[in-house]
Amino acid sequence: MEKTVYLDNNATTRTAPEVKEAMDPFFCELYGNPSSMHAFGGKVATHLAKAREEVAAFLNCSPDEVIFTSCATESDNTAIRGAADFYGRSSKIVTTAVEHPAVLQPCRRLKAQGHEEVELPVDGVGQIDPERLREELKGTKNAVVSVMWANNETGTVFPIEKVAEICREAGATFHTDAVQVAGKIPVDVSKVPVDMLSMSGHKFHAPKGVGILYVRRGTKFRPFMLGGHQESGRRAGTENVPYIVGLAKACELARTGMAEESVKLTRLRDRLEAGILAACPNVRVNGDRAHRLPNTLNVSFEYIEGEAIAYHLSDLGICISTGSACASGSLDPSHVIRAMGVPFIAVHGSVRFSLSRYNTDADIDYALEKIPPVIRNLRELSPFGPDSDPTTFK
Ligand SMILES: *Cc1c(COP(=O)(O)O)cnc(C)c1O
Repeated sequence: MEKTVYLDNNATTRTAPEVKEAMDPFFCELYGNPSSMHAFGGKVATHLAKAREEVAAFLNCSPDEVIFTSCATESDNTAIRGAADFYGRSSKIVTTAVEHPAVLQPCRRLKAQGHEEVELPVDGVGQIDPERLREELKGTKNAVVSVMWANNETGTVFPIEKVAEICREAGATFHTDAVQVAGKIPVDVSKVPVDMLSMSGHKFHAPKGVGILYVRRGTKFRPFMLGGHQESGRRAGTENVPYIVGLAKACELARTGMAEESVKLTRLRDRLEAGILAACPNVRVNGDRAHRLPNTLNVSFEYIEGEAIAYHLSDLGICISTGSACASGSLDPSHVIRAMGVPFIAVHGSVRFSLSRYNTDADIDYALEKIPPVIRNLRELSPFGPDSDPTTFK
């Protein structure tokens, strides 16, 4: 395959060359253990501390509120299970129907273990109603709330400030999965009263296998990884120094470049959206266009399958994704698209385009050249269309 136009940046991103360069000395030269007594390890500890300061500057928090983890899945699990564990069996867990599995699965496990669990519904554009949360928290003690900052499939941004305020009034511990907002919209925990927040390096140009868990001072949780005293006893295991240094570099790049990048991302994404809508009939945009990440476009091509679209575009070097989980050979439509009540004829044809700083106008030109004929061909092969009986479409 010669050409690659990568439009799947909500799944993972290219590691920034600056990040790779910053990491390089920490493999063969500065390889000491930051916990060691000797100066050789101590030097590495200095770099680890500097990395923590950079992440803190990115989130606008104090360095001791930053815990490094192996991924956002670990951060999400630690926050949710750790906060619920601290309270014992008596807590109520409130989340949303459109969370990433890294949040939904631990919440459902807690339910199986005897906690009460509620998944807030979303409306047709994938938005939650914060007043529903307020209702759910009435009269609760020890509630744990996990609501994502922005959705990975549709790019819909939730009113997190409002959600955080409601949680604070109710005395609930509030965690947010902020993986998809990192480097795309500003995150300032001094302004938004979240208690815990998760991010993942590989979603904003650091490598895979390193994450952030922000924990506001005073927030109670029981650590998940037990062992040594690393991360002030909150996450055991020798720190992954090269990756943490890389993650800090990615935070610096995001902090300094985000304002300009988001203008570019919005422009390219809007070009892609307008081009698709102009060239293809029977297309609908999924998500809240008024509150949406600058890089994300989720569209349903009615009467055809998202998997088929992704497969054909892959042959042309274009990388996109569908929300479907190819579990046990069955193609289940995305739980996010289903929760939004997207009409039946459009559920299966949903695909996601997600951009990054490395995308260009030429990428969009290429995508807009290739997508319409692929859609036309698939529609010609499809037994379904605007005139067919929708109940037979599966
Ligand atoms: C990718 C993603 C995760 C998981 O992150 P990992 O670091 O790969 O574990 C969690 N939440 C959201 C919203 C994501 O997009």
